[in-house]
Amino acid sequence: MKIGIVGLGLIGGSLALDLQALGQEVWGVSRRASTCLAAMEQAMVTHASQSLESLTDADLIFVCTPIAAILPTVSQLALLVSPATVITDVGSVKGDIVMAATQLWPRFVGGHPMSGKAEAGLAAASAGLFRGRPYVLTPLPQTPVDAVTQVSQWVERIGSLLYTTHPAAHDQAVALISHLPVMLGASLLHACATHPARSLAESLASTGFRDTSRVGGGNPELGRMMAQYNREALLAALSGYQAELSQLTQAITEENWALVEAYLTDAQRWRPAFIEGV
Ligand code: NAP
Repeated sequence: MKIGIVGLGLIGGSLALDLQALGQEVWGVSRRASTCLAAMEQAMVTHASQSLESLTDADLIFVCTPIAAILPTVSQLALLVSPATVITDVGSVKGDIVMAATQLWPRFVGGHPMSGKAEAGLAAASAGLFRGRPYVLTPLPQTPVDAVTQVSQWVERIGSLLYTTHPAAHDQAVALISHLPVMLGASLLHACATHPARSLAESLASTGFRDTSRVGGGNPELGRMMAQYNREALLAALSGYQAELSQLTQAITEENWALVEAYLTDAQRWRPAFIEGV
């Protein structure tokens, strides 16, 4: 079987390492010659090229480019590959991408590994990144079953926990647990950086602040794409969050300490279900 990976960065590079560890040869394609060279030198892929034509006879292709390049890549691949080829992506947003990519290539299976890091690029790639983490597939009713099965099998082989859902349901859920926290973390950092007490706060900040702000200080390009491509679901999540913050602000303003404590007790009770397995 010939597997291709387009976009040798954090996710594409990590996937290449895991597939190779399973004894699978991997044909990588990336934008820059220096990335292809580095991937070959570090034996992260079996072959690397800047040209999608190296994937003409691939059976399965993972598109691991930034979100904005996914559809243009699928569009180019559709002109090159054989009708049996399965194309899947790893983009953090699914709705619009899956609909449009399926029009371009009927054997397209939307995917999203729920693992990541603050760093980007091939140098940040690491083996085992997906192990024990959820990996969501978002097939449409018309997606061929054998194409979904093929991608599912590789997801399970790299040790991920397979979930299957509709693209819109995926986007709503990730808006809440992934995209909203990025915006909250970033706005928290802004609130601190623009406060007169910034300098002392910087010196006093410890693990609690590190944990709360971590995703807000990640890759800005990825965060911008989350907002741009999952705008509607993110706006709904932000609006729900603003309502919660207003409720809490009002309780503190009114010195309603019983309500504040009840609010925090609910939060403490609900948290384990969200972070179980993390
Ligand atoms: P990344 O580290 O920046 O890697 C993407 C790589 O794609 C870049 O290093 C770049 O390599 C290459 N590239 C850019 N445009 C290309 C093109 N037109 N053709 C071929 N290669 C191209 O980003 P990432 O974090 O791996 O994210 C990749 C995808 O995974 C995104 O769609 C993102 O939504 C998704 N994702 C990310 C995370 C996360 O936490 N980071 C988690 C789950 C899913 P060159 O060096 O060759 O320019």
